[in-house]
Amino acid sequence: MTTKFILPESDIPTHWYNVVADLPAPPPPPLGPDGKPVGLEALSAIFPPALIEQEVSAERWIAIPDEVREIYRLWRPAPLHRAHRLEAALKTPAKIYFKNEAVSPAGSHKPNTSIPQAWYNREAGIRRLTTETGAGQWGCSLALAGQLLGVEVRVYMVKVSYGQKPYRRSLMQTWGAEVFASPTQLTNAGRQILAKDPDTPGSLGIAISEAVEEAAGRADTNYALGSVLNHVMLHQTIIGQEAKKQMAMAGDYPDAVFGCCGGGSNFAGIAFPYFADKAAGKAVRLVAVEPTSCPTLTRGVYAYDYGDATGLTPLLKMHTLGHDFVPPGIHAGGLRYHGASPLVSQLVDAGLVEAVAIPQLETFEAGVLFARTEGIVPAPESTHAIAATIRAAKECAKSGEPQVLLVNLSGHGHFDMSSYDRYFAGELKDFHYPEEAIAESLKHLPKVG
Ligand SMILES: *Cc1c(COP(=O)(O)O)cnc(C)c1O
Repeated sequence: MTTKFILPESDIPTHWYNVVADLPAPPPPPLGPDGKPVGLEALSAIFPPALIEQEVSAERWIAIPDEVREIYRLWRPAPLHRAHRLEAALKTPAKIYFKNEAVSPAGSHKPNTSIPQAWYNREAGIRRLTTETGAGQWGCSLALAGQLLGVEVRVYMVKVSYGQKPYRRSLMQTWGAEVFASPTQLTNAGRQILAKDPDTPGSLGIAISEAVEEAAGRADTNYALGSVLNHVMLHQTIIGQEAKKQMAMAGDYPDAVFGCCGGGSNFAGIAFPYFADKAAGKAVRLVAVEPTSCPTLTRGVYAYDYGDATGLTPLLKMHTLGHDFVPPGIHAGGLRYHGASPLVSQLVDAGLVEAVAIPQLETFEAGVLFARTEGIVPAPESTHAIAATIRAAKECAKSGEPQVLLVNLSGHGHFDMSSYDRYFAGELKDFHYPEEAIAESLKHLPKVG
């Protein structure tokens, strides 16, 4: 009874898979404030040419630079596990497999993209990168990449998280990054907000504004984003490519593939390589899982909206709850985003990817069961995907059908134990976002066309 399916380092993928090549229609382009497609030069103030090219590419396969593959060797290929003990606990005939992205140094899938992003920037002569971070997972991943590739990293960390997640801050500093509690006095955006509200807890939107402003204003500095954009989805497809080989080693093919969805990158990472099969006629369900408190894919609209809170970014066609939607402070910080990847959104809109929303308490219940059976404490984000998988496994227990279920474990929860504490203390609640609140923030969508 094999538990872990391990690939040799020589099986680290040599190419990223670009789902654009298999989409039923070309992706709608990003638009500028005038409603016209943005020129690529508009992006060149903050991104290097190679990443802009990837952002708009329709090539099916894009080669991974050798030095990036060398660094991937530090933790890749990531293991695929058969969750025998979870299956037994659920008394299900389903076979449950999970891809373990928690094994990266930062503890999540995010270094799969932070490493190539830092590499392409360094190749373009960029010395410094700025970014924002909420709970700190992306900041840590970029700090790690900067350290390994000799690029300075400055992180604007949302002020409340800076106080609540001190160990993520120290991890970023250990990897040599500068970390500031945002808003800061270092940028116009930060100074303006502090002048109005000196005690603001900060927000991801504000932190993005600060990081982008600094990158746009300095020739030696670019900006890096941890999810949402096409090139990020692209980099994450190494997850699904490895998983396909490992599932073949196990002699199984999934009936359904599950990933949690914040900006969409870990879901895309595991699901897009299977979408290539689906586009070729194979039956496989691809399920993106989000919180009921931030129901972007299940209750948002598919429309053009800004990527940030203040309207600095180009307009992206995506599922959105409105750029000024403020999700409640749930304990899966990585899933609190008003929008979603345009590529994932397009597939949901076309009915080729399913979306499901799960309430917070069910996700923690799933996380605890997973920790007590499989041993790994999942990140609160990952517990969403696990909860959806458990739902499916329970269905199989009822129907007697031995389905094959594959879930992406996007990260571990070692820095999120205070959330587990609050769950155990009975302090967490379910939150179903009220229809009126969604309708209200959707009123502020930018007018296009
Ligand atoms: C950031 C993060 C997520 C959410 O981001 P996606 O781009 O949707 O993958 C999910 N899980 C973990 C562990 C994360 O760090």
